[in-house]
Amino acid sequence: MKFFNTMGRELQEFTPINPPKVTFYHCGPTVYWVQHLGNMRAMVMADLVRRALLYEGYEVEFVRNYTDVGHLTEEDIESGEDRMAVASKREGISPEAIADKYIKIFERDIAELNVLPADHKPRATKYIEEMQAMVQTLLDKGYAYITEQAVYFDISKKDDYTKLSGQILEANRTGAGSGTVQDTQKRNPQDFALWFFKTGEHKTALQTWKSPFESPAPDVKDGEGFPGWHIECSTMSTAILGPTIDIHMGGVEHIPVHHTNEIAQSECATGQVFANYWLHNEWLVGKGRKISKSQGDQQSVEEAKQRGFDPMDIRYLFLQSHYRSKQVFDWDILATARKGRLNLLKKLEAVARKMPEGEELHGDLLELWDQKFREAIGDDVNVPKGLAILWDMLKSDEKPEDILTTVFEFDRVLGLRLEEYLMNADLGDIGDDDVPEEILTMLEQREQARKDKDFALADRLREQIKDRGYEIIDTGEGSKLRKLDA
Ligand SMILES: [Zn+2]
Repeated sequence: MKFFNTMGRELQEFTPINPPKVTFYHCGPTVYWVQHLGNMRAMVMADLVRRALLYEGYEVEFVRNYTDVGHLTEEDIESGEDRMAVASKREGISPEAIADKYIKIFERDIAELNVLPADHKPRATKYIEEMQAMVQTLLDKGYAYITEQAVYFDISKKDDYTKLSGQILEANRTGAGSGTVQDTQKRNPQDFALWFFKTGEHKTALQTWKSPFESPAPDVKDGEGFPGWHIECSTMSTAILGPTIDIHMGGVEHIPVHHTNEIAQSECATGQVFANYWLHNEWLVGKGRKISKSQGDQQSVEEAKQRGFDPMDIRYLFLQSHYRSKQVFDWDILATARKGRLNLLKKLEAVARKMPEGEELHGDLLELWDQKFREAIGDDVNVPKGLAILWDMLKSDEKPEDILTTVFEFDRVLGLRLEEYLMNADLGDIGDDDVPEEILTMLEQREQARKDKDFALADRLREQIKDRGYEIIDTGEGSKLRKLDA
C-alpha cells in the first residue's frame, strides 16, 4: 500500500510501526456550529483511508478529537472574539452546552454519511492537565518561554521547524502566531502560544483553567488561562496512541501552521518522531472559493435532506474525486451524483434479477476484479478508480451472484450501503400507477415548492402525503411515489 506523504512530498510504501496495527489520528472539528459539507467531505476522505486500511487487513485504532475550547484563528482576529464564545453569546447557552449540541449534530451527520465511528473521540477540555504537563516539559527543556500574555513555543529552537511545509518563514509572517500578533514580547513572529493567560484581549475568555505557569501580568491569578489550539492535538494523540503514530490526517490548510506546530512541540517534548505519514485532503470548493463555515455557508447534510437528497447521494459524490484533489460543489452537481447512484442501484438490481429464481446469494469473490480494486485503493486510496472498476465489472459477463458478492465486498471501502439499499429499496416498484388524483396534485405542489426553495412547505407536503399512505422517492428523473405498507 502506498500513501502520498506530505512529509517528503512523495508517494511512499506504507510500513506501520506494529503491523497489523495502525494508529491513526484525524484532526476533528471545532464544535460551535453545524458542520458544512466541505467539512463532511474531509470526514468521508479520512473514512476512506481508514476503510482502505481495513480492506488491506490492518487493524486501525482511529482517534478523532473535538475542539470544544475557543480559539482565535486568522479569520477571527478581526472580530477579536473566539468561535466558542461567539456561539455561546449567539445562542445564550454555555460553551459546554454549545459543544454538546453540535457534537450531537456532527455525530448524526457523519453516521448518515456512513462514516465509521471513531474508536476514541476525545474532547479537548477533558485533557487540560495532560496539555499543561506537555507545556511544562517544553518549558523545562527550554523550548518554551513565558510573557505576560502567554506561554510560547520558541520556533528558533527547532532546526527543522518547517520540514512539513517546506515554507520559507519570512514569506509567512502573518498567521503563524494566530491570535497573538499583538504581543511585542514574543521572540520570533512565528512563535505560537501553548497557553494563553486570562489577561489583555483574553481578559473576558469564558473557558479558563488554573495552571502552574506564572504570568508576570499583575491581573493573572494562578496561571489562569486556556490552551493553544495546536497543543490539544499533540496531547490527545500522545495520550491515546503514544508518542509516535502511523498516520496523522487533516485538511491542506493545516500544513503550514497547525500541523507544523503540532510536530514542533510534540517532537521537542517527547524527543521522538510525532507521526510517520502525514495525509492531507484538499477542499470542497463552490464558485471559485473554499466552502467554509466562517463565510456563513448553509450547505449541510440537513439542508441536502431538506432538498430531497439521500445522504448516500453526498457520499457517492465525494467518492468521485480523489482526496488530494479539489472537488467542486453545487446542488446541480449533487443532483447529477444522485442520478449516478440511482443508476448504480438499478444496474445492481438488473444483475440481481439475472440470478436463478429463489436463489440465495452464495457467489464467489471474483479474485481478478478484487485484485484490480485492491491495486486502485492501495495506490494512495484511489477510490474514483475503484468506482470505475466496479462499473466495469457490472458490465462484464461474470456470473451475477459472483458480481454481487464482489460488489458488496468493494462496498466495505465505498460505504454506499449497497446491499442494504438493494434489499430494501424496491426500485422496480416505483411508479405513479393507481395513485389518487389528490395526492398527485400534492406531489406537483411539492415539486413547485422545491423549485421556489420553499423547503418548509415542501416538507409539510411530504408529511401530508405520508399521512395519506405514500412515500416520496426522489430519483434522478424527479420525484415518484410509493405506497407505504398498511
Ligand atoms: Zn489537529
